Parts: sequence; structure tokens; C-alpha cells
Amino acid sequence: MTASTFDEIGRVLREHQRFAILSHVRPDGDALGSQLALALSLQQLGKDVRVWDEDGMLEKYSFLPRAELLTKPPSTAEDVDVAIALDTAIQNRLGNALAAVRSAKIWINIDHHRSNPGYGDMVIVDSNAPATGEIIFRLIKSQDLPLNHDIAENLYAAISTDTGSFQYPKTRARTFEIAAELVRVGNLDVGQISRQLYESYPRRRIELLRELLRTMRFEFGGQAASFSLTLKTATDLAVRPEDNEGLIDHLRAIRGVIVAVFFEELPDGKVRVSMRSKDEAVDVCAICQKFGGGGHTLAAGARVRGSLAEVEEKALDEIHEALKRRP
Ligand code: 5GP
Ligand code: MN
Repeated sequence: MTASTFDEIGRVLREHQRFAILSHVRPDGDALGSQLALALSLQQLGKDVRVWDEDGMLEKYSFLPRAELLTKPPSTAEDVDVAIALDTAIQNRLGNALAAVRSAKIWINIDHHRSNPGYGDMVIVDSNAPATGEIIFRLIKSQDLPLNHDIAENLYAAISTDTGSFQYPKTRARTFEIAAELVRVGNLDVGQISRQLYESYPRRRIELLRELLRTMRFEFGGQAASFSLTLKTATDLAVRPEDNEGLIDHLRAIRGVIVAVFFEELPDGKVRVSMRSKDEAVDVCAICQKFGGGGHTLAAGARVRGSLAEVEEKALDEIHEALKRRP
């Protein structure tokens, strides 16, 4: 893998016409906001841009400016010159969006996951960046690409969500400087964006939290906390994948807890494991990589074949080992 510069990527953006901007399955605010922001900036340059995600736009993020641009990919491949994967640690996590851009001549991979192996022809993986949205902002600024209200709001939402509202450890002075510039340039209403991001959940999400808390377990002297979602509960509550984004934070927020884990039974015989750590010495990315997943040191995930009970046991064993190795 050779890392690319913003200048090299800027040149490719200007020299081509047809783009597809993609992100990972079960997208989050960083994925969707980054996609829309880059798409809108390229559209302003007169480019032909498709914005695809396997799941399409989520109800929760449909307030984002120009959210309607983001759709599910078509079932037959379309001709594009350049495919751009954002916030996607491994190419497989693009899901069925991958098949829709088979013809792309150039693949650009822009991400902040440490576990990203650097697939694609042009790569920027900055694992110090707290959000892919921050990298997109720097790309836009350095290449003098269009930045307007709609682009600023999408980038602000991307950065706000992936920093846990400017709380997670990768939040740096530069993150606040970028946020300040977005608020200024876009004349953003931070209160309104925050209400839409954090105070507009469907009641269903809190009903889900109530069920999860019934399954809450503490292990290893309270250093690990977990809860689980069965398929049955998910069906009974008509849970949507986006409902559980952030619920794991309730476990992480408990004093004494170092690792929080959320197990979710999936219809395909796998269990989605989502992990958070509060201590750099307990690297949940490394743990999840053992199960074929990845992510960041303090936030990672994997999809593991097996029953809920089997996967819980295997994951908690690995967490126990990691906790024991702590200095
Ligand atoms: P979450 O727990 O919020 O789903 O994901 C936490 C982090 O781990 C995210 O940055 C996400 O991209 C990464 N991640 C989650 N699940 C997987 C997975 O199955 N494979 C890989 N490679 N990364 C994942
Ligand atoms: Mn991200």
C-alpha cells in the first residue's frame, strides 16, 4: 500500500467525471455525513455522483441536508470512473454496493480505522483522525473544493457522532477548530443539529434499551459489562439496526467498567459483537481481529459464527485474557 496525498486525490477528483461514493453496511453518522458531504462538494464541481450504501439512508439521519441523494445501490452495475470508499475498514463491509461499481477504474479508500489494510489504488488512512468526516474536511480545504452550508452540516454531524459529541480520546484541538470553522462557514444551528442527532430517538430505541438492561451482566470484578439482544426480542420490538447505535455507551459509562460488549444475534447464524474499551492497554480492535473483525483500539466489532451463548463465552474469554495482561 502506498499512502496518497490530498493533492494526488484532488487531481483525480478534478480529472474524472463519474463517481460513486460508498460506505459500510449498517452505516453510522460518520459514514453517511462524510458520503453526503463529499458528494455535494463534487456535485458543485459539476461532477456526476452516485451515493450508495447497502442499507440506503436511515430514518435517523434523514434530516441531513440532501439526504435523498443517498440510496441503496442498483442491482446491476453502473459505469463509473472512480469509486470512493469512506469510513470502511475492509472492502467487504461495502456489502452489495461493491458489486454496483465493478467497472470503476480507480478506487479511493479514505478512512480512519487502524485495521484498514489499505485496499484500493489511492489510500488515506489516518487512524489519529477521530472521524472520517475530519479527513474529508481536510481534503476539501486543502484542495479548495466547494464547502457550503449543506456540506458543513453533513461534516459536523459526521464528526459529532464519531467523537461521541466531542468526548472520545481522539478529539483534539484540531477537531474543535474544524467544528468551529464548520459552524462559522455553514452558519450552523448546533442546538438544532444536536436535537436531531441526540434527542429525536424513536420510543422503540428506549424500549430496546429496557430489554437489553434486563440481560446486563458484569464479569471479572465489574471490569467487563455486557448485554445481549436475541432475534426474538429484536423481532418483537421491530428493532431497526440503527436503533442500537450508541446503546453500548450505557455500559461503558459505568464506573469500574473497562470493556463493554454488546452481543446481537443475527438472522444468518452469526452474532454481531460490538466492543468498547476505556483503557488503551485493552485493545478491543486486536480482540475483534481475532474474530475476523476490526475497528479502533477503543471501539471495534466483529461478526462471529455461532450461537449467542457460544460467542459470548469466546469473546468474554478473550476479554478476560486482555484484562489480565493489563499492566
Ligand atoms: P460498532 O460497534 O459501532 O458497530 O463499531 C465500532 C467500530 O468497529 C466501527 O468503527 C466499525 O467500523 C468497526 N467494526 C464494527 N463491526 C465490524 C466488523 O464486523 N468488521 C470490521 N472490520 N470492523 C467492524
Ligand atoms: Mn468513522
